[in-house]
Amino acid sequence: MIMAINVEQTKKYYKDIKQEDLCDCNYCKNYYLQVKDAYPKVAEFLDSIGIDIEKPFETSPLEPDEHGMLEYCICQYIVIGSAPSELSKEIENVKIDISESHPSTDLIQEHFVIDIYPICLKWIL
Ligand SMILES: [Zn+2]
Repeated sequence: MIMAINVEQTKKYYKDIKQEDLCDCNYCKNYYLQVKDAYPKVAEFLDSIGIDIEKPFETSPLEPDEHGMLEYCICQYIVIGSAPSELSKEIENVKIDISESHPSTDLIQEHFVIDIYPICLKWIL
């Protein structure tokens, strides 16, 4: 099912992303700091296809609720390779799907984008 993904190139793509390439808004910082510990099985799955969960392409945070929880209604990740006809999973109540709409990526290599949602984290900043 995930044969079309180029795991080696995806790994390299994430390795080449530097801290300063990432969005530095507080919503994103809050995400980088906690997402891996909060969703270890999602992180493990993403890692198995070469994705570093701490380096999202795009996140869409809502406002923190009265309990100080912040929902990211969609988080997007770039994957190098061609999209499998189907990639639909649910891990730790997080859905993982091929994205149907996302900002332009400026990548020349063949790639696609996945959506993971929702991610709920404490607002710690
Ligand atoms: Zn941001």
